[in-house]
Amino acid sequence: MASSIGIFGGTFDPPHVGHIAAAAHCRAALGLSKVLLVVANDPWQKSPSRRVSPAADRLAMVAESVEGLDGLAVCDLEVRRGGPSFTIDTVEELARTEGVEDPWVIVGSDLATTLDTWERADELRRKVRIAVLSRPGSPLVLPEGWRAVALVSDDLDVSSSQVRERVRRGEEIGNLVTPAVVRHIEARGLYARELDGTA
Ligand code: ATP
Repeated sequence: MASSIGIFGGTFDPPHVGHIAAAAHCRAALGLSKVLLVVANDPWQKSPSRRVSPAADRLAMVAESVEGLDGLAVCDLEVRRGGPSFTIDTVEELARTEGVEDPWVIVGSDLATTLDTWERADELRRKVRIAVLSRPGSPLVLPEGWRAVALVSDDLDVSSSQVRERVRRGEEIGNLVTPAVVRHIEARGLYARELDGTA
């Protein structure tokens, strides 16, 4: 596998048009051969505060979202590995199994300032380059001490929380996720009850 790989990790609960646009924008802007949408098994930064949907659902919805899109692919490494999902483990596994070197890790601007808190941040800093993508509501700042670039895209003001909230209220989500994801959410009855907080 070529080294121009983008690793775009997330909870994807559910994947929305902002995720897909972000991945496609980074691929084009950085000339990447592929962007992997890596579904977190246990998103340790989110799971203590809310109940996360089963990984199998999140994986299926990401696969449905990228189907037919050039250069975007779902990656199930973290789900197969199990346990808490750390990007450094994924980077090392891709290096070992696919020969991926010096990949880009793609994060929205809301996450750029958290990188130093990630597992084994010092090793990660040496092994990856960071693409910080603009996202409404978070200033676009480069993380200090990382090899990083800032990318500005057509900001889509959409989040998974917003999709979950709309489903809970019985509102339309057809402009926020793909038709296949709408069908998946309906068929599995996802988000019909409040998942955030203690409920
Ligand atoms: P939640 O609302 O549940 O917190 P989320 O919409 O932030 O979820 P995640 O799956 O947690 O979605 O995000 C994965 C990655 O995608 C993160 O790097 C996040 O910053 C980025 N991202 C999510 N939505 C957007 C968006 N609209 N524009 C740019 N980046 C985004």
